[in-house]
Amino acid sequence: MNLAILGPAGSGKGENTGKLAERYHLKHVVVGDIVKAEIRNKTEVGKIMYEYTSVGRFVPSDIVMQVLASQLKDLGEYDGYIIDTAPINMEQYNKMDVDDLDAVISLEVEDKNILRTRTLNRLICPSCRRVTSVFESPDGVCSHCGAKLEHRYDDNLETVNFRLAQYERETVPVLEAFEKAGKLIRIDSSLSKSEVFDQICNKIDDFFAKKPLKN
Ligand SMILES: [Zn+2]
Repeated sequence: MNLAILGPAGSGKGENTGKLAERYHLKHVVVGDIVKAEIRNKTEVGKIMYEYTSVGRFVPSDIVMQVLASQLKDLGEYDGYIIDTAPINMEQYNKMDVDDLDAVISLEVEDKNILRTRTLNRLICPSCRRVTSVFESPDGVCSHCGAKLEHRYDDNLETVNFRLAQYERETVPVLEAFEKAGKLIRIDSSLSKSEVFDQICNKIDDFFAKKPLKN
């Protein structure tokens, strides 16, 4: 089972991807983390990536997609993969082996103010990377490892609005392409965390019951 998950900031991507990877025994591939790891490990491609990121530029899609492809080839014990946040634009879509994807989960929240509120109140543990919120962790301490929680430096209203507009402009066409291919699973992500996760699992199970896996 090969999946990708897409959704704007605040739609619950990170949390649901982790839980889905566990439930369906999938390799959890976070595109941003792959780029960071290549740079940190100073691999050949990591050095090229660093030339872009060190001057505040995005790494070109063909380099990112090339590294992603190599990660997807090596699945080891897993029964497939789930990609967190790719393809996020048509350029990535065209450079990716999209035929290899069985389904794409789209986390959708109609009321954009819900996304703004969630993002602006988001807290992240600098130590174990757990994502929580000022509502869930009012004491500001990670319930998992005890570290002091932090806001992400770019979680402010201006950036949130910019990212939302960018998502509409660049990622929504990708969703439409997957819908045309009969691969899109739309999720109402405005509900509570447990309702959203149950909804995703039910829809995935339905989807694959109707459409047998290739492998
Ligand atoms: Zn922690």
